[in-house]
Amino acid sequence: MKKNNIQLIMTIVIMVFISATWTSSCIGMLHKVKKGETLSGIARMYDVPMKSIAQTNSLASLDRLQIGERLVIPVGTKPANAAENPGGTWYTVKPGDSIYAIARKHNIEDWKKLQQINGIDNPKRIRVGQKIFIPGKWNVGFAKPLRINLVVTSEYGYRNHPISRNYRMHDGIDFRAATGTRVYASKTGSIKYSGRKGGYGKVIEIQHADDFSTVYGHLSRIYVSSGDFVRRGQVIGLSGDTGRSTGPHLHFEIRYKGKSENPARHLDLP
Ligand SMILES: [Zn+2]
Repeated sequence: MKKNNIQLIMTIVIMVFISATWTSSCIGMLHKVKKGETLSGIARMYDVPMKSIAQTNSLASLDRLQIGERLVIPVGTKPANAAENPGGTWYTVKPGDSIYAIARKHNIEDWKKLQQINGIDNPKRIRVGQKIFIPGKWNVGFAKPLRINLVVTSEYGYRNHPISRNYRMHDGIDFRAATGTRVYASKTGSIKYSGRKGGYGKVIEIQHADDFSTVYGHLSRIYVSSGDFVRRGQVIGLSGDTGRSTGPHLHFEIRYKGKSENPARHLDLP
């Protein structure tokens, strides 16, 4: 009996943890305010109208930012031409609307995502005329890093290393890709690392919102530099065979707080 209870509690804990990490991977870019930063400066940096940031974060004042304050940046959103913008659109609350109905109308499964990205404290209290940011496809979840038919040549997990023959952890997934195949940013973020790094060869790491990052290894060409801001679906380099590799392929990792996770949990793979 006791054992069952413990198992039940463990299951609940694991489920809560998974849902928490999943939800956090689905909101926009988070920006932590640093000393000396202004809203206009941040708006310029992300190429987002100041008003959008103020609205998304329900900022009362445009000139008083707290150091360390976390802002949701609705990256790529330009209300003026939202129709052309895959990043998201703005919706104006009408009489009788609820956050649940608005989410349903826009095919957003989890209405809490809308609540989170718009900084709404009480979902029951939205007012007519209020602008709600509807996130577009590219700032929700992880996209495939290749646009060819995906063939997994090596799974995530422990394996006998193809070169050293040692039994060791494989922190990512390998996809078959001829040298020169375009590699796309799996999610919006900023370049944390780009260059050569040991066995990875030419590698890119993108830092995303909420402590997720993605890694693209064995590249032949790199098109981005450290600190660059990239959008989901942007070409960041070409696949290759650099570093410790047994042939042309893309090594792809998803990390949470620097620790690798199985990309198959985040991507729709064959
Ligand atoms: Zn690999």
